[in-house]
Amino acid sequence: MTLVTINNFVNNEYVPPTQGKYFDTFDPARGVPHGKVPDSSKEDVELAYKAASAAFPSWSKTSRPDRAKVLYKIADLIEARLEEFALAESTDQGKPVELAKTVDIPRAAYNFRFFAGRILHSVDEAADLVNIGFSYSQRMPIGVAGLISPWNLPLYLLTWKIAPCIACGNTAVCKPSEFTSLTAFMLCSVLKEAGLPAGVVNMVFGTGMGAGQAIVEHPRIPVISFTGGTVTGAKIIANSAKLFKKLSLELGGKNANIIFADCDFDLALKTSLRSSFSNQGEICLCGSRLYIERPIYEKFVSALVRGAKALKIGDPRQKETNLGALVSKEHWEKVMSYIDLGQKEGGKIECGGQKPALLPNEFKDGYFLEPTIISGLTPSSRTMREEIFGPVITVYAFDTEEEVVQLANDSDYGLACSVWTENGRRARRVASEIQAGTVWVNTWMARDLRMPFGGMKQSGLGREGGDHSLDFYSELKTICLGE
Ligand code: NDP
Repeated sequence: MTLVTINNFVNNEYVPPTQGKYFDTFDPARGVPHGKVPDSSKEDVELAYKAASAAFPSWSKTSRPDRAKVLYKIADLIEARLEEFALAESTDQGKPVELAKTVDIPRAAYNFRFFAGRILHSVDEAADLVNIGFSYSQRMPIGVAGLISPWNLPLYLLTWKIAPCIACGNTAVCKPSEFTSLTAFMLCSVLKEAGLPAGVVNMVFGTGMGAGQAIVEHPRIPVISFTGGTVTGAKIIANSAKLFKKLSLELGGKNANIIFADCDFDLALKTSLRSSFSNQGEICLCGSRLYIERPIYEKFVSALVRGAKALKIGDPRQKETNLGALVSKEHWEKVMSYIDLGQKEGGKIECGGQKPALLPNEFKDGYFLEPTIISGLTPSSRTMREEIFGPVITVYAFDTEEEVVQLANDSDYGLACSVWTENGRRARRVASEIQAGTVWVNTWMARDLRMPFGGMKQSGLGREGGDHSLDFYSELKTICLGE
């Protein structure tokens, strides 16, 4: 296989890393390298910063309609290249192409379309201080933003940062995950073709410890938007604290999926299979702790096991495939170590727990794992408390509403939760008691970008009211004009 060579994107030009170093990036379904990624350094971040800084005065003064026009064009171009992007996303990350085609890539395009519309239709607050004056609030673009994204939904999560950042008039230095650089690299040509002025978005590829940390510690990058693990988030807080940076951190989760006996059984079952195993369980919003009310526990778990066993694992390019490969060998080993730990902690493997035996030869070195359901663990076990981020869920029987709310909230995380019940009053009661940034009732993954998104507790911080664009404006300033 010929390896694609990725290069940094600075000032709308492709440039090799200053130290000339590259590392291999792998196709997780085949376990072989498919590209070379720059191992960028502090010097590369500095070049990108200079380009972004030079572009800021003009881009921040560009009218909203003109900025929106470019964003709409970017959305159109991503959609025009849907197949190509979906294939690249799958090759890089291991997910089924069909999932990339129907979820990741359309949502990436929508990120640009949504924030283009957002800047055209928003107004800031104003108050008439009768006989005294007039007071209004103003938010300004901040400057050069550092945007750092993870590997699980590579293009979607990167564009979830780039779109509001540039829509609001900022410029950016981006660092995608070292495991998934391909779609970010392809996006560079789209940005250029759409007419985005040079320097507005710069892409520096490499590792977290190299390029990522250099962005976080850069003294003139005042805002960092980061999505990734909670441990990395804590490092970013520590490393940027002395520079008083504005931070938006979207971090890990261990989301509860609460199933009451009065739920719509078939819908709860079908959606729980999706919320447990979509994208190989590598979505921060996946429900990984299932709490099932005792009267339906046995029936629900048996049906869940049957459903999990029926999911098709393998060739990400086949339309019927439900689960592709995990992102990397290291991650596969980490997830396997939790399956081991779960058993040592007294858990019973209801299904899965292994690499599938019957994979075609082409995929024999890929990082595949069967959907895995573990029962019999206690809520204090590490398997039930720590984020695994793979196709591994735990099931647990509960007796009362009060008990399940306590169990769901007994977590360091607070990202999302699903509640399944046909009792409307209970749905509202439980939803308001749950400590999580998003609570779904009788659904999963439904989102409206106008609504705030983020996590409570160790699942994130920096989320302001309203949509994500507020993360990319300065703190609200009040101006008061006297009579
Ligand atoms: P990581 O925290 O390992 O990495 C995220 C990004 O941060 C990568 O680009 C990484 O680079 C970079 N990075 C690593 N160390 C540093 C550092 N010291 N300074 C600056 N940047 C750094 O997360 P993963 O990529 O493994 O993603 C999975 C995690 O993301 C899960 O915990 C998941 O829950 C969370 N997530 C949260 C979401 C949310 O909305 N709350 C959404 C999606 C995922 P590199 O990869 O090259 O090391």
